Amino acid sequence: VLRAESVRKVFGSHVVLDDVDLDVPQHTVTVLIGASGSGKSMLLRCANLLETIDDGAIFLEGRDITDPRVNADEVRQRIGVVFQAYNLFPHLSVLDNITLAPRRVHRTARREAEDKAMALLERLGLGKKAADYPDRLSGGQQQRVAIVRALATDPTLLLLDEITAALDPELVGEVLEVVRSLKDDGMTMVIATHEMGFAREVADQVCFLADGKVHERGTSAEIFGSPKEERTQQFLRRIT
Ligand code: ATP
Ligand code: MG
Repeated sequence: VLRAESVRKVFGSHVVLDDVDLDVPQHTVTVLIGASGSGKSMLLRCANLLETIDDGAIFLEGRDITDPRVNADEVRQRIGVVFQAYNLFPHLSVLDNITLAPRRVHRTARREAEDKAMALLERLGLGKKAADYPDRLSGGQQQRVAIVRALATDPTLLLLDEITAALDPELVGEVLEVVRSLKDDGMTMVIATHEMGFAREVADQVCFLADGKVHERGTSAEIFGSPKEERTQQFLRRIT
């Protein structure tokens, strides 16, 4: 679904992504791990065209989305994104948060968008919260709504960047549970996370980033069970 080839991103003399290759097959989960500043968020931002790249190319379903002639809005509609925090519009109800993009961008009828949003909310145990404003919800509930919103346009790919990092520990579990169930549904995802136990559990592919490079990649068992590179071993020793 998503493929990055020799992606390079620089800020002045600082190389933030250095010759990054990534291949994310359909119905798989790729987890990006690595120290703070290693380039995980930047890679996700480049994939969502929030940043332009300086060399290489990124393909979504075979199409080069880094070609300057591509319509970035159209690409973003096919990619759902959830960030660490501050995802929801505070002045809109939960239901309006979710149906905004389907109605505005995709011109879905209100009724259809709301029916779909309600079905997704019910599934995540949030049906009773549809009319509430985000500030009435716990952090975990807000992140679950943000995930529902990202799903509302039927994206082909979901990018999740540290979606539990701002949550109180007791709220992390309910959000990760949602991600697990999306994986079971076959959703294609790229997840940047510091939650190593979770990464190990859900990842089909793990990429360890260091200094903007994919330093090592492999299956969850390979990276967490028997990492080959010294630097990967060090990183995992330090944080687990
Ligand atoms: P974390 O685990 O803390 O989220 P990360 O792996 O997501 O870290 P990135 O946010 O991708 O790291 O940052 C990679 C590098 O890019 C960092 O060195 C950061 O300082 C740099 N960077 C990010 N945005 C900019 C910018 N707008 N201008 C200059 N440098 C930037
Ligand atoms: Mg980050």
